[in-house]
Amino acid sequence: MAAIASTTWLDPFLEEWRPGTGAPIEGHEPATGRPLLKIPGSTPDDVARAAAAAAAAQPAWAETSYAERARILRRAAEIYEAHRPEFGSWTQRETGAVHGKMHHEQNFTVQEVLAAASMPYQPYGQLVPSVQAERLSMVRRIPVGVVGAITPWNSPSVLGMRVVAPALALGNAVVLKPDPQTPVCGGAMFAAVFAEAGLPEGLLQIVVGGADVGEAIVTDPNVHVVSFTGSTAAGRRVGTLAGGLLKKVSLELGGNNAFVVLDDADLDAAASAGAYASFQFQGQVCFAAGRHIVHRSVAGAYVDALVEKAARLRLGDPYREEVDLGPIVNEKQLARVDGIVQRSIEGGARLAVGGTHDGLFYRPTVLADVTTDLPAWTDEIFGPVAPVVVFDTDEEALALANDSEYGLAGAVYSRSTSRGLALAQRIRSGMVHVNDQTVNDEAVIPFGGMGISGNGSRFGGAANWDEFTQWQWVTVRDVPKSYPYPY
Ligand code: NAD
Repeated sequence: MAAIASTTWLDPFLEEWRPGTGAPIEGHEPATGRPLLKIPGSTPDDVARAAAAAAAAQPAWAETSYAERARILRRAAEIYEAHRPEFGSWTQRETGAVHGKMHHEQNFTVQEVLAAASMPYQPYGQLVPSVQAERLSMVRRIPVGVVGAITPWNSPSVLGMRVVAPALALGNAVVLKPDPQTPVCGGAMFAAVFAEAGLPEGLLQIVVGGADVGEAIVTDPNVHVVSFTGSTAAGRRVGTLAGGLLKKVSLELGGNNAFVVLDDADLDAAASAGAYASFQFQGQVCFAAGRHIVHRSVAGAYVDALVEKAARLRLGDPYREEVDLGPIVNEKQLARVDGIVQRSIEGGARLAVGGTHDGLFYRPTVLADVTTDLPAWTDEIFGPVAPVVVFDTDEEALALANDSEYGLAGAVYSRSTSRGLALAQRIRSGMVHVNDQTVNDEAVIPFGGMGISGNGSRFGGAANWDEFTQWQWVTVRDVPKSYPYPY
């Protein structure tokens, strides 16, 4: 890998990294267009080699003591902390994240490792009763083998770490493919941290490339379980491929999340939370507030508050300037966001603020008078846009909240917690918050969505046992059992 941007601690790891044999991939800063790095991409053959090496290394790792696995993970957390400034600058330059978002992601990444480091200490099975009283019968969780991890560009460190750390902790090997836009903070960083932490060779393989490399991971016979985070469209393809091979697959996909404001809400709190949930990181967040569902009696004041906040947000290069919003990640995504906004305005939505862009810098946008037939309502925008729809009754609010095939996150603001809770519990989403906004996660909770936001899988907490281990029933008898056969 040839790094153009200057690095320090990562450099030797980048140099030693066995290069892929595919066409070179060039990385650029979205904020400036400046080149960041040029690396040889991986090919499906590279994936096959990586998966075979991972499969060869995994059995010995599964037999490594729990204390040693945990020690290596704790060490990885320390190393990550020690090199945060370097990883942080790569994160900002590769993704266009502002300081706050970058630090939040880093804190969370460390939490993922520390939570995973506690897993090897946990019980991993049960003694179960048997109709044959003289035999010992147990069920235990054993590693799945090699986990193929495919991650998106928008939060590459934490979305990679939420797979890599628990999968390794529970005795698996991992083949990780970050998005080609984030090969360092989504890929090389992992290789460097775990190599320095003393992870035995072969257990963590990083391949760089696009859909063809991702599909090679999904179909490789040495990859036993696939963990995919990304768009619903790509997730469908991954799910179809994995399903055809009868391979277990976890899909964490897009969202179009409801943010409900009841008539008795603390409007200041709701509006600042709503603005944060739609605009932070340019709205490029799977659990961003995608649909603001606001009671008619407060909708005018709510829209005014969102407009006032949007107008105050500073746009610019988040790596070199003190700003609130950075760029949209690339031209294609910019065109998508703007297309949804312009078509919604043509369809009758009122542009309250924003709706324009300067290069990749899209101004935070509020759309009022949105109706449920418009793309701003039906589509995941993945940009800094807050569409507002009005309701009159709680039942209507609920119907609007559930008027989406997605079901990732939801939020309800109300001064009455019982009223808020009653509504929140009926929102069809994997996560829902009363008097807090949708962009919420913790390493200890099972994170994931319903509907087309996923396939029922979850990341985090106890769910990691389901994702990265499988049941095995084992029985033992002192006296071998014989069967009077034929009867
Ligand atoms: P994407 O689906 O285009 O890419 C995600 C990853 O999948 C990348 O590594 C990409 O190279 C790979 N990929 C693409 N096509 C593939 C294929 N056919 N086979 C295998 N791999 C393939 O998504 P994106 O645009 O990079 O990310 C944004 C999307 O991710 C949004 O929809 C967002 O909501 C979603 N997301 C979901 C979560 C979650 O936890 N639910 C978290 C972050 C982002």
